[in-house]
Amino acid sequence: MGVSAIPQSLGLIYALLAFPVIAGLWYKRMMTRPIVFLFLFISAGLGFLLFSPMVPYQIQQAITGGGPGPGSPLPLVIVLVAIFMVLTFVAGRIFCGQLCPIGALQELIYTDPKHKTNAAQKRVIMAFRFIWFVLILVAGILFSVAVLRIFGIKEFFYLDLNAPFFSVFVILIAISLFFYRPFCRFFCPFGVLLSLAAAKSQYKIRRTDACTRCGACERACPAAEAGAGDAKMECYLCGRCIRACPTEGALMYSRENTETEKEDHHE
Ligand code: SF4
Ligand code: SF4
Repeated sequence: MGVSAIPQSLGLIYALLAFPVIAGLWYKRMMTRPIVFLFLFISAGLGFLLFSPMVPYQIQQAITGGGPGPGSPLPLVIVLVAIFMVLTFVAGRIFCGQLCPIGALQELIYTDPKHKTNAAQKRVIMAFRFIWFVLILVAGILFSVAVLRIFGIKEFFYLDLNAPFFSVFVILIAISLFFYRPFCRFFCPFGVLLSLAAAKSQYKIRRTDACTRCGACERACPAAEAGAGDAKMECYLCGRCIRACPTEGALMYSRENTETEKEDHHE
């Protein structure tokens, strides 16, 4: 099943326009749960309608040179990766949080309270993903093997039920019921790149001086990123920490480190 260039462009325009809108909504503290869900439904829906550009499948195509995938031409994919890395450096993983169809599906399916990662597990998962990323690069560049193909992402979003790998992604989506974003956190090469940009993102969810250090945000975070000194590489801007916080204004999507955050970071 093919996808014409026009809807793909629409998907890209959606991502590029929605990114600053969502950043603004987080900054204005207007990114309420219903609005988060609204963006998640739109993004997941666009995955099925358009298989929007800039999802990991296209990254794999760019790496392997495996021919045009269901998305933008490969040179444009590389430019777009760079653009989204810059956007992520400014405003955090908004693309992963609310705009990627794969991420949106997993976010919609995961329900609280379920398994939450602790800091040690997070380090292991991140180490695994970096090794996996290198393997994808080596397999693609040296052997022209597109490893991500075995996940059946394209087949899943095209609802190609008879395709050989369709069920692999179905299983991953099923795992998302009780484990937060398994594809994002273990396997996504785009996620690796965006997590590097997010490590130094200018705007992110930060503690303010109003924080009482009750720990509610850390208990609520499924990705072990709500600690005061956490870099937010794996923060998907789900908003659970803010919703769990009992103190008004203790967590803000902002640019500057507060004194509280700096102190905690040095403890
Ligand atoms: S980590 Fe990959 S799959 Fe997950 S939301 Fe980000 S780009 Fe999408
Ligand atoms: S709970 Fe907070 S820190 Fe954890 S992933 Fe969600 S938004 Fe990020």
